[in-house]
Amino acid sequence: VSRISTRAGDADPNRPAPIREVARRLEEDFPAARTELDHEDAFGLLVATVLSAQTTDARVNAVTPELLGRWPGPTGLAGADPEEVAQVLRPLGMGPTRAERVIGLSRALLENHGGEVPDDQDALEALPGVGRKTALVVRGVHFGHPLLAVDTHVTRLAGRLGWTTSTQPRRVERDVVERTEAPGEGAPLDLTALSLRLILHGRRVCTARSPDCSSCHLADLCPRIGVDA
Ligand code: SF4
Repeated sequence: VSRISTRAGDADPNRPAPIREVARRLEEDFPAARTELDHEDAFGLLVATVLSAQTTDARVNAVTPELLGRWPGPTGLAGADPEEVAQVLRPLGMGPTRAERVIGLSRALLENHGGEVPDDQDALEALPGVGRKTALVVRGVHFGHPLLAVDTHVTRLAGRLGWTTSTQPRRVERDVVERTEAPGEGAPLDLTALSLRLILHGRRVCTARSPDCSSCHLADLCPRIGVDA
């Protein structure tokens, strides 16, 4: 990784960006901290998040209206024909696998939770196709808990901002959360909003391949300003 000087500032390559100031500026940039996955309820968010693996939110948003319109709720999808569901999910790639995943998920919700999405980390992670990140997204975004869901953007940003040296999601989560819990720091940070805003910043500005440091609101705080991806 090489560095170029793109903007004069106070950034110190050895000093992590102050997390509360980053959160404050990202709140200015993205006042509405929100997921870009369209959904109407907890089940819709859960299904959309599961489907978003290895594809884009825009592609998921293009198929979920038909998916959940034809087979509404866990009851609808649990009884759906896998081949028909796979056909609807085809534009995402791996249609049959994704179909199995959402049908299995729906059946497990019906069998174990009366068709309701549980507000419980372990119960969510026990559902087929649901990992830690998906469970944190659902609990943070739908149920309103302050939780840092770590995806590829949050991992990259946390590294560039000097908050972690790891790319392992559990470790990134721990390093970032610990940083927000420093004594004397005042009210707890809304970690759900922070992770959603980091994702938006990572998509719009600090992209993996061409971070736009010259127009970045965090440039004077960022230890990796001028990072050459
Ligand atoms: S765009 Fe550049 S300055 Fe902004 S956070 Fe990313 S690496 Fe740092």
